[in-house]
Amino acid sequence: MAASGKESQYLEVPYIYTSGEYLYTCGELSEFFRAIKDEKRLLGAKCPACSKVWMPARGYCPDCYEAVSWVPLSGEGRIVAHSYCYYPGMTGDLVKFLDLPYVQAMVHLDGTDSYLMSAIAVHEQRMGTMKDGMRVRAVFREERKGTIADFYFEVVGEAQGGNRSGEESGVV
Ligand SMILES: [Zn+2]
Repeated sequence: MAASGKESQYLEVPYIYTSGEYLYTCGELSEFFRAIKDEKRLLGAKCPACSKVWMPARGYCPDCYEAVSWVPLSGEGRIVAHSYCYYPGMTGDLVKFLDLPYVQAMVHLDGTDSYLMSAIAVHEQRMGTMKDGMRVRAVFREERKGTIADFYFEVVGEAQGGNRSGEESGVV
């Protein structure tokens, strides 16, 4: 609901910062965030000129400057790079939600041409065993606000040969 009381064509998300409370307007990314908030699904931003699919979403292709269209994603992908986080330097909403440690990871979602920086929940049995290349799936939080922190990832499959563990790559 817009601040004026009228329904906005754009999704507006309450945002509290040290200096006050704001409404963050999602603009041309409203469809992307509404799909997360209302339907628990991820969309990719597809460029009509070069056919690249961007995730996280962008309103315009950064290569061609063309307005994108939305394509459904499976929500599954693989870890490209990762690091355990024991002492978060930020107090973002998702960080507060996940137990420490969690994994900060770059994820390549199936059907996309870019990487998404996100978090992976670490269950005890995964401590020290996380590897680049592992398959992950998006998990949506029960309470969603329409932000990128409404979901995180969990591991659903092992890496397919030739991938290094965090310890071997020195990333940990
Ligand atoms: Zn393009």
